[in-house]
Amino acid sequence: MSELSAVVPRPLPWLIPRWQELCRLANADRLPHALLFSGAHGIGKQSLADALIARTLCVDPGEYACGQCHACQMLLSGYHPDLLRISPEDGKRQIRIDAIRQVNDVVSQTAQQGGYRVIVLSPAEAMNVAASNALLKNLEEPGGNILFILLSDVPSRLLPTILSRCQHWPLALPSQADCLPWLSSQLDNEEHASFWLQAAGGLPLRALELAEPDARALRQQLHDTFDALVRGAEPLDTAARLDRQSIDAILWYGIAWLEDLIRFGLSGNEQHVYNADLLPLYRQAVKNGRVRDWFRLLDYAREQRRLLASGGNPNPQLVLEAWLIRWSTLLRS
Ligand SMILES: [Zn+2]
Repeated sequence: MSELSAVVPRPLPWLIPRWQELCRLANADRLPHALLFSGAHGIGKQSLADALIARTLCVDPGEYACGQCHACQMLLSGYHPDLLRISPEDGKRQIRIDAIRQVNDVVSQTAQQGGYRVIVLSPAEAMNVAASNALLKNLEEPGGNILFILLSDVPSRLLPTILSRCQHWPLALPSQADCLPWLSSQLDNEEHASFWLQAAGGLPLRALELAEPDARALRQQLHDTFDALVRGAEPLDTAARLDRQSIDAILWYGIAWLEDLIRFGLSGNEQHVYNADLLPLYRQAVKNGRVRDWFRLLDYAREQRRLLASGGNPNPQLVLEAWLIRWSTLLRS
């Protein structure tokens, strides 16, 4: 059984203080029936949720789920009858009302294992209005021994009625000291860990994603694109060389780099830049452009990303072209 207990879910190291708060509440029987864990993608919300799901379903938990009891073994084998996870279907962006109907079924039955029933919605902001409204009734009158866990990157996109019925746990950006040792061990290299953590704006799991070979290749390609635009290349020629399916990632980099540019443009301080390898380009861009225009471009990129995430959008090719045309206008002197 020891190999099983080794994989009992635990929160990532920088979330341990939040975990201890949750355990104190659970031990005092004061865990609310609906929790919302929010924080930027890459902060580790899922690890906190997984640890709590396991501990809540476990028959004999200590600080963590025991890993030995029947409930733990079911969960570790991948199926527990009292756990319902709801996410958008494959290839879809929204959680629809059909999925929420399963919640009604779970809530109206008694727990098959006699303990808690746990319902996880991720990302909660993917619920459309009909789904959110259908969930409300369950959040209001959940009955005993039910725990809802909602995960959200952007809690402001949840309906206020949903927000007000959950206890909100915003997860703060970890300090470097709290997450760098973990990231260094994942990447086997402290210097790389530090570089990617900065490039990811301090989000450790996002840093891991950025350090993957495919993500690095895309970043290099965008770096070259940025360089070409600063030198006056035609944005439409440049757009043709990029994969329009990567539009969300392209916009993500665009936003991160614009934020860098704005920090640098306003302060003139190179220490404020997260992507130090882009400094030569930033210096040129600062000579060519105006901070006010970059703010406008930043708003545009955020709005396009929001539209893409909500599934309400547009042709990725057109978004990509419009994006590069706007960039090039600002970057050219
Ligand atoms: Zn257990």
